[in-house]
Amino acid sequence: MGIKNNSRRNFINKCFSSGGLFIGGMLLINCRGKNESPGDESETKIQGNLKDPCNDLTDVSDGEIKKRESLGYVKQSAVPISSCGNCALYIPPKSNEKCGRCILFKGPVYVEGHCIQWAAITT
Ligand code: SF4
Repeated sequence: MGIKNNSRRNFINKCFSSGGLFIGGMLLINCRGKNESPGDESETKIQGNLKDPCNDLTDVSDGEIKKRESLGYVKQSAVPISSCGNCALYIPPKSNEKCGRCILFKGPVYVEGHCIQWAAITT
C-alpha cells in the first residue's frame, strides 16, 4: 500500500510539474505585448515613432501597411520627376502636420515618396 501510494503521488507530482511548465509557457507567450514581437513591422513602427514622424506607422493597421507595400510605396522616389509631392493623389500636410498623406492608403507619406499609382496633376 505504501509503495502504491508513493507511486501514485509521484505520478501526480509529475503531472502537475509538467502541466505547470506548459501553463507557465503559455502564459509567457500570451502575455507578450504587441510591440515586443520580433517582426520587422513592429520594429519599423517603434523606430519610426522615435526617429521620424513620416515613418511612424504605430497607428496604422497591418492591412493598411500591406496596402502601401502592395503599391510599392517607397519613401524616396527613384524617378526624379515624379514623387508624392507632385502626384494627384497626394494630400499635403496641414499646418500642424509634418507629413503628407495619400488618398490610397492610411498613414504618413514622404513628399519625396513614390508608388506605382503615381498620377500626374492635371489642371
Ligand atoms: S499615389 Fe503613390 S505617388 Fe501618389 S501620393 Fe500616393 S503614394 Fe505617393
